Amino acid sequence: MSAPAGPILVQKFGGSSVANAERVRAVARRIVGVHRQGYRVVVVVSAQGDTTDELLAKAREIAADPPRRELDMLLATGEQISIALLAMAIHGLGEPVISLTGPQSGIYTDDMHTKARIRRIEPARILRELEAGNIVIVAGFQGQNSHEDVTTLGRGGSDTTAVALAAALGAQVCEIYTDVDGVYTADPRVVPEARKLPSISYGEMLEMAHLGAVVLQPRSVEVAAQYGVQIHVRSSFNHHLGTIVKEDAGRMEKEMVVTGVAHDMNCAKVVLMGVPDRPGVAHRVFAALAAEGVNVDMIVQTTRATDVTDLLFTVGSDDLERAVATSKAVCQELGAAGVHTETGVGKVSIVGAGMASNPGVAARMFEALAAEGINIQVISTSEIKISCLIARDRVADAVRAVHRAFALDQPQTAAASEPGQPGQALSGSRIPESA
Ligand code: ADP
Ligand code: ASP
Ligand code: MG
Repeated sequence: MSAPAGPILVQKFGGSSVANAERVRAVARRIVGVHRQGYRVVVVVSAQGDTTDELLAKAREIAADPPRRELDMLLATGEQISIALLAMAIHGLGEPVISLTGPQSGIYTDDMHTKARIRRIEPARILRELEAGNIVIVAGFQGQNSHEDVTTLGRGGSDTTAVALAAALGAQVCEIYTDVDGVYTADPRVVPEARKLPSISYGEMLEMAHLGAVVLQPRSVEVAAQYGVQIHVRSSFNHHLGTIVKEDAGRMEKEMVVTGVAHDMNCAKVVLMGVPDRPGVAHRVFAALAAEGVNVDMIVQTTRATDVTDLLFTVGSDDLERAVATSKAVCQELGAAGVHTETGVGKVSIVGAGMASNPGVAARMFEALAAEGINIQVISTSEIKISCLIARDRVADAVRAVHRAFALDQPQTAAASEPGQPGQALSGSRIPESA
């Protein structure tokens, strides 16, 4: 059999898409189908179901704060199970296939264990395997650093593996197969009337992802925008067209002031109390946090009529322990009163490129929250989003109320529901079905 020389197609299947043997076999059939159409197929796969969470729980049984290098060693095994099983299933269907770990695929990262960033990809091995006619199955979420140690890319990192590979291999489209039909105006599990967006701009998707829409890891969107790769988010359980993430999505969406609502339950609040009110203090605090690799999100400094102030910030729950330890050390140096933390918080945000030029958007959001009796603890805004920190147990109510307030459940465009071809881009040329 001669090796296919058609376009390269990168497809990524998330954890729920390969959660059990039946689903692995269904994904294998899908991949074999496009390979038989003549595509050179590179598949990125995540760990099965809740495997990554289970591995994290196992680590915690052994150590409260395990060395991050060893944590990566453990976490990377989840994806290795998936690649081997998927390759076995494809082999069973009679197609040539090979599975590769991140390091074998030439994915090089920095040293930041558990949230490493991809520095470069050397795709020689992948290209060789494609040349030999193989379907190539790559373990998502992992790479190696300059010391040849295994690193992982942070939760949801398989999305970034897939898009980075698409960029490195010159693929026009990266297909992200997941357990929903595309990107919706809000998490469809929280807002049943949320609508699927036919397309969304890189900028808006990046903001949605940063603000908690886990359907794509934010860094995958950054890479896509940087290299002009279109992302097609679609369901692994049907053949509908999903959502295309691409360059500015055009006139229709600009007229919509708000594109979507995002929420994040995975955050925590830290307050440094009684911090001296003098130049250089904020720098001391946030430089120390940055040195520990803590990503700080919202920041508020209160003004008091005295020479001390309170400094409040939010971090992802995963970073809380390190943020508190660092804050306590800095507070001691500064002679501040102490550190207070709160984990029962969540964030609800609206995103839309149109809001910068439309007054009254913030007021409408606050009105919707007030009508539900939801207290806002912190507000932060940019020209493309407004976020409110609220009590975690009110987040779902808040998302639904805000979604209603902006009439996001009302159809704005015809939702695409016709079957979508593999490799299809919404505005670009359709890649031939067989090459
Ligand atoms: P995978 O395992 O395929 O990577 P994820 O769980 O990481 O899947 O991402 C898919 C989930 O993202 C959906 O099940 C959905 O609950 C959630 N989600 C959050 N916000 C959105 C949104 N705006 N549109 C679609 N899905 C969303
Ligand atoms: N398995 C990893 C996680 O659960 C990576 C991914 O699914 O993208 O975060
Ligand atoms: Mg994911």
